[in-house]
Amino acid sequence: MSSSINYQLNAKTQQFLAQSHKLLINNEWVSPAENNTFPVINPANGESLSELSIADESDVNLAVSSARKAFHTTWSRFTPGERARLMWKLADLMERDKQILEELETLDNGKPLDKAVYDIAGAIEHFRYYAGWATKIEGSSIPVGPDKLVYTRKEPLGVVGLIVPWNFPLMIAAWKLAPALACGNCCVLKPAEQTSLTALYLGNLIQEAGFPAGVVNIVTGPGFPTGDAISRHLDIDKVSFTGSTAVGRKIMEASAQSNLKPVSLELGGKSPNVVFDDAPLKAVLESVHWCSFYNTGQECTLGARLYVQRGVYQKVVDHLAVSAKKLTIGNGLQNPDLGPMISEQQLNRVLDYVNIGQSEDADLVIGGKRVNGDLAKGYFLEPTIFAHENDQLQIVQEEIFGPVVVVSPFDTFDEIIHRANDTKYGLAAAVWTKDISKAHKFANATQAGTVWINSYDLFDAAVPFGGFKESGIGKEMGKSAIDLYTKEKAVWVAL
Ligand code: NAP
Ligand code: MG
Repeated sequence: MSSSINYQLNAKTQQFLAQSHKLLINNEWVSPAENNTFPVINPANGESLSELSIADESDVNLAVSSARKAFHTTWSRFTPGERARLMWKLADLMERDKQILEELETLDNGKPLDKAVYDIAGAIEHFRYYAGWATKIEGSSIPVGPDKLVYTRKEPLGVVGLIVPWNFPLMIAAWKLAPALACGNCCVLKPAEQTSLTALYLGNLIQEAGFPAGVVNIVTGPGFPTGDAISRHLDIDKVSFTGSTAVGRKIMEASAQSNLKPVSLELGGKSPNVVFDDAPLKAVLESVHWCSFYNTGQECTLGARLYVQRGVYQKVVDHLAVSAKKLTIGNGLQNPDLGPMISEQQLNRVLDYVNIGQSEDADLVIGGKRVNGDLAKGYFLEPTIFAHENDQLQIVQEEIFGPVVVVSPFDTFDEIIHRANDTKYGLAAAVWTKDISKAHKFANATQAGTVWINSYDLFDAAVPFGGFKESGIGKEMGKSAIDLYTKEKAVWVAL
């Protein structure tokens, strides 16, 4: 846990940080109408990294009209192959500049550099995967009788608003941009206010790749006014959002109050990670701290509720406590195991939950404190474990979004299915057992959009991802995302 950093940033990263950051509208970097700005804070030391523009309603209007114009005049007229080639070219440019993107992501979000490497690779892969889809979006013909011809067309929606959170900034932007572009839509992207740097750098690469003006517009700023202006806009045809369930509700409300644009929502979670007595124990012990604390717990799929069958409960929890204490904490540039929380506000939110847990009489096994000393200027928190036997506690039911795992023993299969499903969320679940029949029965009975068997947090651009219940609406990734960014038209012909 040391604050002395011995890492030389790429000269282009330094150059990018030093420049003034505007809004990408119609392929030009323009100043916001009101010239308002806000600072970008490095969560590892609280220092200002750069200054960003705030887009208000009038700036969002400009971005939307530029996207609308591009949709009519260029992007929807391009052949799918032309769209695919530009997307592939963008992926190649991202690959060329990946070190800069990785460093920016680490500085901005705080995450360890090796985790940023994984994120940027995932973002690049997404553009390549959906470049492949651009040429394979097909309708169908439907036989309804001898004197009729019926066929369907999958058409782009038009202008889509993409609102992104701070925990996986460029990767989640790519989850949205890549399928939206492949399907022929033009985009207005709003990165999270805490982490806009990689999206802005991507804007440079979009210009360099040669995308026509207005196909991708990037507006920075907070939820209000920037995000709100997108979700209420009368000329935006869809909003895709990832973030909290509370803001997800606001996005739906804004749609209902404006033009009833469809919304897809990737929201919070409180995923159960379930270990049976007959689990492959070595694999469990090797990974349980990552399931519980990956990305400093700022992850929607985090295994935030760990349930362990009574026969191995103490062994697993003791091991988790020992390995959590060994996790290194520090500035992401030094490749620790855990970086800081994204902001002081988020740190305090998590500390509030630690207090709530203690007042609820959960048993604080380890952690629960801000890391001081050399790291006092950053927003660092110890990995924290609470043990409990009451699923109705606030710390068990609510998404904390920090390095806090709640652990509890269980006895029977039926009991754990009930308990695993007993929250308002349904994003993901995992089960560890050598009994394949039990594993598949668990997967069938769990109300979660993703279930991992003897593994955790596996993702691939080809595999649909999205939550059940209050964890969201719609699936990103894979073929499913093509449905999110197209509308289906039926055409009838009387022969
Ligand atoms: P958030 O407010 O839901 O942020 C997500 C995105 O929505 C950001 O770009 C945000 O802008 C924007 N936004 C906020 N208010 C908006 C509005 N009224 N209309 C349109 N867009 C709006 O999440 P947060 O405040 O950063 O974090 C709060 C909690 O959300 C966390 O503690 C965690 O529980 C949860 N969260 C979940 C995920 C996930 O992947 N499921 C990701 C992040 C956070 P600003 O960034 O400028 O506010
Ligand atoms: Mg916010």
